[in-house]
Amino acid sequence: MTHLSTLGVRAGQVRTAEGEHAEPIFTTSSFVFRSAAEAAARFAETEKGNIYSRFTNPTVRCFEERLAAMEGAACCVATSSGMAAILATCMALLKAGDHIVCSESVFGSTIALINRYLVKFGIAVTYVPLDDPDAWRLAIKPNTRLFYLETPSNPLSTIGDIRTLAQLAHEHDVLLAVDNCFCTPALQRPLELGADLVIHSATKFLDGQGRCVGGAVLGDAERVGKEIFGFLRTAGPSMSPFNAWVFLKGLETLELRMRAQSAAALELARWLEQQPKVRRVYYAGLPSHPQHELAKSQQSAFGSIVSFEVEGGRDAAWAFIDATRLMSITANLGDVKTTITHPATTTHSRISPEERERAGITEGLLRISVGLEHVEDLKEDLARGLACV
Ligand SMILES: *Cc1c(COP(=O)(O)O)cnc(C)c1O
Repeated sequence: MTHLSTLGVRAGQVRTAEGEHAEPIFTTSSFVFRSAAEAAARFAETEKGNIYSRFTNPTVRCFEERLAAMEGAACCVATSSGMAAILATCMALLKAGDHIVCSESVFGSTIALINRYLVKFGIAVTYVPLDDPDAWRLAIKPNTRLFYLETPSNPLSTIGDIRTLAQLAHEHDVLLAVDNCFCTPALQRPLELGADLVIHSATKFLDGQGRCVGGAVLGDAERVGKEIFGFLRTAGPSMSPFNAWVFLKGLETLELRMRAQSAAALELARWLEQQPKVRRVYYAGLPSHPQHELAKSQQSAFGSIVSFEVEGGRDAAWAFIDATRLMSITANLGDVKTTITHPATTTHSRISPEERERAGITEGLLRISVGLEHVEDLKEDLARGLACV
């Protein structure tokens, strides 16, 4: 059982005595013991087994083991959201006085979590450009404990060199955490490239059909299985069994979806690049992308997120969106339904206009997350948008 599609369908399932074919949902908050002695042994952790669903639950464990197998991780813990996965990692592994070096192109709530909350507890941060390893090197201090990044970045598909940054981190006794939300293990396996921790928002591609909010952290048994799990079972942002079951069903089709959505995204990116009203297309699968070779060296395909800049600024970008009939106007991504958004006034609206321009998130920029509709129908919808620019 070494191929990813097989793991996605089969890994982690333990059938009960009922012989059920599909994975059951264990909707129980607590578990019973055969005797007082067994209860004592479970609490003393001299015997393995379930106690309470804030700690462990069989449906959640099945999801954790399946995702761990797919990422090639020794251990996985599931969380109530992607943000809870990031919080749990920081709470468990950092302390007052520690320092994080973080890519400046990470999810907005990740930056808010660090700047508004972690700094209150004496954790310092330096933001650096994702694609400049020298900047990461120069940002290292004696108290640096964590490198944090997402690759490809949102929305401009900048690539972080995982191998180089892992090596740099390890030379300085620093951990590298990679948010693998955009690629998923179907396209990129950061642990194999040297990362110590992988973080997921399961809400996106792992579910793939926009139904549930959840997350996960993967890595070694000590940090993830003991330290991060210890925080989760104590603080409680654990995943519900129902959500775990939905994500299990998502993992079964993950590889198929990621391949199909990546192929459609590549086709649309190539087509957009030829349209006169499109100034620039941001997609690492295009040979014109400055980091195309690096992307090829660490990803097996380029994902479903394509961004492009149209002539005419905000008015043109909004007219484009309003002219589409098929795509959903929503800032969410990773769904089999194609979505379109205007980053400058949605996902990146809270950063200052100057910072936004500097980051390349212009008023004419649009981002699509390509789903599973027929690519010709999507092209027709994009053409409707372009006709209004
Ligand atoms: C959505 C997202 C998150 C946060 O996940 P939630 O499940 O919404 O909490 C973190 N990182 C990335 C890259 C995301 O896209």
